[in-house]
Amino acid sequence: MCLNHNDTTPNPSHFEDSEEASHAPAHRDIAWNDYKDLIKGMRFFDPHIHMVSRTTDDYQAMNQAGIVALIEPAFWVGQPRTGLSTFKDYYSSLVGWERFRSSQFGIKHYCTMGLNSREANNEPLAEQVMEILPLYIYKEGVVGVGEIGFDDQTPAEEKYYRLQLELAKKANLPVQIHTPHRDKKKGTERSMAIALEHGLDPSWVIVDHNNEETVKSVLDQGFYAAFTIYPFTKMGNERMVKVVEQYGPERIMINSAADWGISDPLAIPKTAALMKMRGISDETIRLVTYQNAIDAFGKSGQIDVTDFESGYAVDQSAKFHGNSILRGGQQPAPVKDSLVIN
Ligand SMILES: [Zn+2]
Repeated sequence: MCLNHNDTTPNPSHFEDSEEASHAPAHRDIAWNDYKDLIKGMRFFDPHIHMVSRTTDDYQAMNQAGIVALIEPAFWVGQPRTGLSTFKDYYSSLVGWERFRSSQFGIKHYCTMGLNSREANNEPLAEQVMEILPLYIYKEGVVGVGEIGFDDQTPAEEKYYRLQLELAKKANLPVQIHTPHRDKKKGTERSMAIALEHGLDPSWVIVDHNNEETVKSVLDQGFYAAFTIYPFTKMGNERMVKVVEQYGPERIMINSAADWGISDPLAIPKTAALMKMRGISDETIRLVTYQNAIDAFGKSGQIDVTDFESGYAVDQSAKFHGNSILRGGQQPAPVKDSLVIN
């Protein structure tokens, strides 16, 4: 997620400050529905999406578009948390209710745990969060420490970024880095230099929210380069296709980073369809939309592909602590194709 706040932007979530004019999509007229068949049978893994902010419609659409697994990084929830207990409840939901909810829509749910850069600036609270983080990072299905890094690039952000790199090293977990949207190049270089300074193996570090300016250095230094497809802003998926054409698929992965702001939980399948239209090979598409994320985060030892590679079994009559996603008397597996809702 993007932590920058610009009061004039409608969506402060994953948006970048638009100091350059946005590129007009050349194919605004292409309807997703007309091209869904291009990716029929493909499986996708979204390594960065904030499902606590998304609806059941999103889960259903993602499942139908071939997303079989995802990673939900711990992040900023849109307003500052005022106490430790809301952090605790949030972390618990990532390994609890949200994981269950995802399973009910046929999607395997993993998460990364961390103190986000924005809230690292509330030092009294950040200190308390650091004390409880070890209780969560060792839980089943936690595939990394994230998303951590820089927002405003303050001394407090650097302090808690460094502490969490040490935590990741100790726990033998990959690191998911959120790079800032202002001064991106500088912030990205600084994030990587600090990770190397702490002795992290770059192949265990996923640097997120890349663009054409940052990708070469990230790959050259041996890190994974993740790309968030942002609707209406800089990193649209047509530009993503060009990045893959230029750099190939090695250590590159795509994500939606969909959250509570304007974002698209189908960013990966849509980009896969666009890649297919542009003649990119199925194997390259598979690597950047599925396999590379599994290779990178799988270093945690927490990902077993047999859980989802042949589809993820759904039992919508299942319950989590006595609660289900069904309303009283409702039948499992709601069908969305009908106009009539009953
Ligand atoms: Zn995020």
